[in-house]
Amino acid sequence: MKYNILTIFPNLIEEFSKTGIVHKSLTKKIVDMNIINLRNFTSDPNRTIDDKVYGGGPGMVLKYEPIKDSLNSIEDPGYIIYLSPQGNVLTQSKLKSLSLNKNITFICGRYEGVDQRVLDSLIDEEISIGDYVISGGENACMVIIEGITRLLKGVVDDYQSILEDSFQNGILDHPHYTRPDSIDGMDIPDVLNSGDHKMIEIWRRKHALGATWLKRPDLLKNVKLSEEDDKLLKEYIEECKKNEHK
Ligand code: SAM
Repeated sequence: MKYNILTIFPNLIEEFSKTGIVHKSLTKKIVDMNIINLRNFTSDPNRTIDDKVYGGGPGMVLKYEPIKDSLNSIEDPGYIIYLSPQGNVLTQSKLKSLSLNKNITFICGRYEGVDQRVLDSLIDEEISIGDYVISGGENACMVIIEGITRLLKGVVDDYQSILEDSFQNGILDHPHYTRPDSIDGMDIPDVLNSGDHKMIEIWRRKHALGATWLKRPDLLKNVKLSEEDDKLLKEYIEECKKNEHK
């Protein structure tokens, strides 16, 4: 997977590429990253990448030409994404489908965004990381890159843990505990120390379903639960009710 990133703040992405799984996947050559400074595609002495909005009013807009010229400099841009609060909202299944691309190019907006003609003629999709506005596309792009990269084989040591993550199969992940067994009057569930893998698996499934029911009941409408799942969830709900009355 090769990521091309068009930005006026290349240093933000460079720092990001030096840490965690992105750094690891670059070192292992699972991914490649080409960070492009839009200012290198300007022709005036001030390296101007933005201009005033037509029609008047406050705010600046990233110009069309540096974006088009920088895209033309890329041998194979692949799927071209403009990060935008107006785009399709990012989901785990979107990350999964993006992870199947060979090359992805991200255009990071700033100020009021980019000239509309970039959207009309140069991109494949606008993607949003949520219904709120941040100051630039760089952080949104880093969210997507991290989300895709961890799905690529060979990046995360325990691939099974990726498959059990929240949203991978439509529900949330189960709770996790680490040592010590007991702290501040709180004990870990006995079963997790039992060594009985089958029972641990059942506990995890039950508590993943339970966490989804408690925190994101909307998700349960879109997953097909087995008879066993229904039974586990009923048990979980009963246990919650009993605990409420204690
Ligand atoms: N005027 C734009 C609007 O209201 O739609 C917002 C511009 S925003 C201040 C500047 C840039 O940040 C955008 O061009 C986009 O690249 C990025 N951005 C802001 N919020 C985002 C979001 N939720 N998802 C993805 N990118 C976002």
